[in-house]
Amino acid sequence: MAALSSCFVFCLLNTSILLTCLVSGSYGEFPRFEHPVKEGGSLKFLVVGDWGRRDSCNQSLVADQMGRIGEKLELDFVISAGDNFYDNGLKSVDDPAFQESFMNIYTAPSLQKQWYNVLGNHDYRGDVEAQLSPMLQKLDSRWLCLKSYILDAGIVDFFFIDTTPFVEDYLTKPGAHTYDWRGVTARNDYIPKYLEELKTALKESDAKWKIVVGHHTLRSAGQHRDTRELVEQLLPILEGNSVDLYINGHDQWLIAYNTSLVLLEETKLMKFTYIDAGMVE
Ligand SMILES: [Zn+2]
Repeated sequence: MAALSSCFVFCLLNTSILLTCLVSGSYGEFPRFEHPVKEGGSLKFLVVGDWGRRDSCNQSLVADQMGRIGEKLELDFVISAGDNFYDNGLKSVDDPAFQESFMNIYTAPSLQKQWYNVLGNHDYRGDVEAQLSPMLQKLDSRWLCLKSYILDAGIVDFFFIDTTPFVEDYLTKPGAHTYDWRGVTARNDYIPKYLEELKTALKESDAKWKIVVGHHTLRSAGQHRDTRELVEQLLPILEGNSVDLYINGHDQWLIAYNTSLVLLEETKLMKFTYIDAGMVE
């Protein structure tokens, strides 16, 4: 069956793009970046996930639509919710998939803005360090990918999180896949420390909006259903720290839920809301 890439459009009152810069105030695994805001303006961004398919699955058609919408909106930036390169991430910084799935696809003038990326499970099947490498920024300055970081965009703080290490099956039942666990091998120590740092960062944020972006589902009626580990370990932290919205990919459909798992109508985002911005099949 053919698959259609899709993306979500967001407009938040108050914010443009200048240069993203690294600022002080990092929390362990969470370096803090700043995306300068324009006075009295509005923040407009697209979210796409599960997209790097070397132009298969109608990737270019969706990219064209993103470009058109981006032009109308005067887009500020693009967010990727992970699974950036199928099937198995990037092999190295020289992997032609970076050109074939990113640089040569998202060519519309309106998409020549900063891309804020996180990793998905498919990205972990390749060389994770390659996707995180500054070498890719030299190839295309739009690219910014870290495992985790905070983006201060004026009225909103975005918390980009790395959800793949939470999912036990990838470690215990990897099947034929190989995952790149460099940096997260001591998982029993890594996860609690990671969550504590996230909690501190969320607590200290005084932004009007707090939005968390991760690859895996929290609540979902889609093919992957809830991600048990995230429901147990992450969700209480988000709910306890006034997070307004959680955005994910992975499930490969477009849907929004509130906390009761009720499908939301159009743009009525209720507190606390989940958006799945992955592929639609
Ligand atoms: Zn995925």
